Amino acid sequence: MAYAYDPENIFAKILRGEIPSTKVTETEHSFAFRDITPQAPDHVLVIPKGPYVCFDHFALEASDAEIIDFNRTVGEICKELGVQPGEGGNGYRLIANSGEAAVQEVPHMHVHILAGRPLGRMLN
Ligand code: C5P
Repeated sequence: MAYAYDPENIFAKILRGEIPSTKVTETEHSFAFRDITPQAPDHVLVIPKGPYVCFDHFALEASDAEIIDFNRTVGEICKELGVQPGEGGNGYRLIANSGEAAVQEVPHMHVHILAGRPLGRMLN
């Protein structure tokens, strides 16, 4: 399958600095910022800097360096937020909405980190 990346999507504009975001951290291959409509006290979006549409696009076509960087960035943010289970935090949830059925609004691969409140059971 060929993935069609739209370089005018809103996260591409955030990466280019064309629209503002509340930056949490930045690495060589990844960028993280606070969600503009937080669904929990801690709601951070982590995105790769590369042009990937959705999670499977990133997982299948990104380089090992990008994938390692992304995963480490997610882990570091959880550590910085103090939400690691067993480390004084109460845990967190990662969400990667991918595609229309999952109501992915922004077609640039992103993972939501949600924490800071009881998150309940969510599998639908
Ligand atoms: O996973 P999904 O694509 O549905 O989520 C996109 C997220 O991007 C939303 O939670 C929305 O609040 C967030 N967003 C943002 N800053 C923008 C535009 C959208 O944090 N400028």
